[in-house]
Amino acid sequence: METKYLSISEIHNKLKNKELSVKELINDVHKNLESHLSSNFLVTLLENDFDGDELQKMFDEQNLLSAIPFVTKDNFSTKGILTTAGTKILENYYPPIDATITKKLKDKNTILLGKSSLDELGMGGTGLFGFNGEVHHPFDKDRIAGGSSSGSAYAVAAGLVPFATGSDTGDSIRKPASFNGIVGFKPTYGSISRYGVIPYAPSLDHLGYFTRSVEDVAILCDATYGYDEKDFTSIDNTNEYYKNFSKSPKQIKFGFIKQVEKYMKTDLKDSYEKLFEKIKKDGHTIEYIDFNEQLLESIPAVYMMISFSEAVSTHADLDGINFGLRAEGSDYIEIMKKSRTKYFGPNVKKRFTIGSLQLKKENQEELLNRSKKVRTLIIQEIKKLYEKIDILILPPSFSVAPLIKDVLGTDIEDRDDNQGVWIEDILILGNMSGMPSITLPFIKENNLPIGINLNAKPKADLELLQASNYLEQLLSKVINKEGKFNE
Ligand code: GLN
Repeated sequence: METKYLSISEIHNKLKNKELSVKELINDVHKNLESHLSSNFLVTLLENDFDGDELQKMFDEQNLLSAIPFVTKDNFSTKGILTTAGTKILENYYPPIDATITKKLKDKNTILLGKSSLDELGMGGTGLFGFNGEVHHPFDKDRIAGGSSSGSAYAVAAGLVPFATGSDTGDSIRKPASFNGIVGFKPTYGSISRYGVIPYAPSLDHLGYFTRSVEDVAILCDATYGYDEKDFTSIDNTNEYYKNFSKSPKQIKFGFIKQVEKYMKTDLKDSYEKLFEKIKKDGHTIEYIDFNEQLLESIPAVYMMISFSEAVSTHADLDGINFGLRAEGSDYIEIMKKSRTKYFGPNVKKRFTIGSLQLKKENQEELLNRSKKVRTLIIQEIKKLYEKIDILILPPSFSVAPLIKDVLGTDIEDRDDNQGVWIEDILILGNMSGMPSITLPFIKENNLPIGINLNAKPKADLELLQASNYLEQLLSKVINKEGKFNE
């Protein structure tokens, strides 16, 4: 039986109705993952060494995640299984522990089949910066899949697994979801413990998922939310997500940032306007909100300052002595220098260098602390916005996935500084404020997807899923298979 493109709940029903045995499922998914290996979307394909009877016992009618195969981003620690975080320096790292999220998914009897590729240490948005090779778009090899969670996005978009994990420091789940036409979700900051996940920038890092539906996100929230004493930033944001996600409120106040509109091409703008008309017809409201433009313009700079400095500080231990591959040297300083020089990629080195500069005593006040102050102003502006609306709609990308030749070798700081560069980084608002955020498939241009992104105030994860469920249903009615509005 063909298992491609099925969601968690569809697989669950097939297992329940005995249309499929767990062994058939796992063999088929494994075979499909294997047939895509040349795309570099996995760092490691895991063998499944259970026999048929053992596998069948993993299934439990009461547990929607039981026996569900998935892949996890390779910065998630998996005990005894290679975990590289996409960097050469960790090419031989077999963690002694499971990350809390790994453990929680294991406790639900899910079946881990692969570790997926990422931009080195999560630093990048293209999927071209991982040490094990470039990941390209599953539907067009000349384009990027997006990053940094490129392998996970690829796996779900190609229909190989029903869900995959990701981490999101700037937009690394939600932007690739847009490019690949799938659901990409990050919860309120701290809802899923980050313990055991190799960080990028702890104050901005969120863990989350790629799925085929909002329903599946709700299932995963129930399974993996919760306070964890091992992560001092974690919070108890548990709720009955699966039970309640489909109870969409009668009237939702949606909002859209006015300043975003002028950077949208006509076609995209038309699509949003058409959608807003349909939403209003259903009795909901859409409000165009003013957002301080100077603050919007500061997003890329503030993000770079904060994330690069946090990254260089968190990764001080990747030195060939505490962790990582070691290069020869005559004393420990030389060993560190040579190990880091030899095994980090150019993008990471660049970000570490900029980060270190900001951490110098004489620069901290002028650069880093000022950035943190601007971040606070951004958070206050977002708070104000939620006094008027429930759900903020943002475009997660302004075009389809770019061509590799147009982005190769470039990175966030290489964008030209024309007016409006911040729109590419608009989703970072979600990381700065910690609000829950989700990208859903929306339209298609030349048969390539562009998503739509929804946000709610911190801790309103259930309200976000309810609004997303409403929008998912609406989109399934008004958008056809070609990704165009039915007239
Ligand atoms: N594209 C962003 C960057 O390059 C986001 C990375 C992320 O979310 N991990 O930093």
